[in-house]
Amino acid sequence: MTDLASLSFDALHKFVVETLGEKPFRAKQIFNWVHQRGVTDVALMTDLSKGLRERLAKEASLGTLTKDVEQRSTDGTIKYRWKTHDGRYIESVYMPSSDRKTLCVSTQVGCAMGCTFCMTATLGLKRNLTPAEIVGQVHAVNAEVRKNEGLETLRPLTNLVFMGMGEPLHNFENVKTALSILQHEQGPNFSNRHITVSTVGLVPMIERFAAETEVKLAISLNASNDETRSRVMPVNKRWNIAALLEAVRKFPMKYGRRVTFEYVLMSGVNDSDENARELAALLSGMPVKVNLIQYNDNPGLGYASTVDDRAHAFQRILEAASVPAFIRANRGRDISAACGQLANVNVPANE
Ligand code: SF4
Repeated sequence: MTDLASLSFDALHKFVVETLGEKPFRAKQIFNWVHQRGVTDVALMTDLSKGLRERLAKEASLGTLTKDVEQRSTDGTIKYRWKTHDGRYIESVYMPSSDRKTLCVSTQVGCAMGCTFCMTATLGLKRNLTPAEIVGQVHAVNAEVRKNEGLETLRPLTNLVFMGMGEPLHNFENVKTALSILQHEQGPNFSNRHITVSTVGLVPMIERFAAETEVKLAISLNASNDETRSRVMPVNKRWNIAALLEAVRKFPMKYGRRVTFEYVLMSGVNDSDENARELAALLSGMPVKVNLIQYNDNPGLGYASTVDDRAHAFQRILEAASVPAFIRANRGRDISAACGQLANVNVPANE
C-alpha cells in the first residue's frame, strides 16, 4: 500500500493525478496536511471531500511513529524513543539552545558500520528507515516542542542534523527523498544551510550526495592516521583517509555548503599532540573546520573520554596550524543522548 508520507512532492502529485484520478491541487493539499501541519490521520484533512478521504484511508497509508519513551536531561536536551509500525525502536534527540532548536535524526534501525566506540553499532543493522519515518521524527518533535514550549509556529525546529542512529549515506535513496520533503516549500521548508548530514565516509556516496542534494556535509573522521582509523572505524579499510579527503576536496561548496570534520577525542587513542599535528597536516589548506567532541563513556566498549586540558591542547595545535577547531559541548550525557550513545539503552523500565 502506498505510504503517503514517504512520497516526495512529485511522487505524491503523480499518485494523486494518475492513480486516484484527482485534480493536481489535491496533491498540494495532502502534502501540506502531512508535512506542514503534521497530521497523522486522513480523516483530519478537512478540506478534502469526504469521498477522497475515504479512498485515501482505504487505498493508502500514512506512516507514523508512536512515542514510546521521553527522557529529559538537566541541560534541556530531550531524547525521544519512537516505536515503528513493525515494533522497532529508534531515537531522536532535541537540543534547544539560546539561538536554535536542533533535532538529531536517525536514519536506520541500528547500523552496519561497526564503529568500535559507538553503542548503536552494537545493535547491527536491522533495517533502513522509510522517508516517512525519517521526516516523521521531525513532525513529531515539532508537535512536542509546540506543546511543551507553548508555541504556535508550525515548525519550531530550526536545524536538523542527521547524526542519530545509522549511516545516512547507507540509506541514501530514502534520505534523499526525506530531504526533498523537509526542504519543500509546501512542507517544513528547511533551508540548505540548516540541515547537516553526517557520514563515516562512504566515498562513492559522497559524490552522489554532492550531486543530488544541496545540504551541508559532516565527516566523522575520529583519527589522524589510517592505522588508528581502521581500528575504530572499519569503513576505513575500504576507503582510507586519502580517498576520503580526495572526495572532500571535490565536494562543491555552492549553496553556502560547508564541510565539517567531526573528531571524537578518546583518551590515549587519538588525542595526543602528535595526533593533532597529523590532523593539522591532513587538513591544512582545506576550507573546512573541525568539531572536537570529548568521548561519552559507554560502559563495555573500552574507551574513555579525553580530559578538558588535553582537549584544549589538541585544539591549540590545530589552530596554530590555521585549521579552525571548536570544542563542542556535549549534550544530554546524563540520559545517553550524546554522540555515539544511541542504542535504546538506559530507558525507564516500561519496555
Ligand atoms: S558512529 Fe554512526 S556510522 Fe558509526 S556505528 Fe555509530 S551510528 Fe553507525
